Amino acid sequence: MAIGKKGTKAYSITGFKCPTCHEGDLFKTNILDMKAPFDMKDNCEHCGQRYMIEPGFYWGAMYIAYGLSSGLMLTGSAIGLIFLGWSVNQTFAVLIALLLVLYVLIFRLARSIWINIYVHYDKNKAKKKEAVIN
Ligand SMILES: [Zn+2]
Repeated sequence: MAIGKKGTKAYSITGFKCPTCHEGDLFKTNILDMKAPFDMKDNCEHCGQRYMIEPGFYWGAMYIAYGLSSGLMLTGSAIGLIFLGWSVNQTFAVLIALLLVLYVLIFRLARSIWINIYVHYDKNKAKKKEAVIN
């Protein structure tokens, strides 16, 4: 369910695709598969792009996840308190439940955004069929 056309950052980020070729998947399982929701592949199976670019590469993704969850909490608080007229307790109960449900999505989006900041789309690697590992 990627948004945008292949070759755009939006496609790679929302489709959890390799930032280089937009063909291989970043994660080992589907987002709805709860077996290993946080496990990333080591390399792209299409172009060989390494996903762990350096040790501790995804530490920075925590800031992206913080921003995404803060944005969700602020927007949700405004909607609950101002527009729906809920109490503070009701609003926070709903928002905490929502964050628990969306935790895997936020985690994956944060990592996908983070790697897309540093790695850019390469048309030539997208066409290449054989995987080059390391
Ligand atoms: Zn790739």
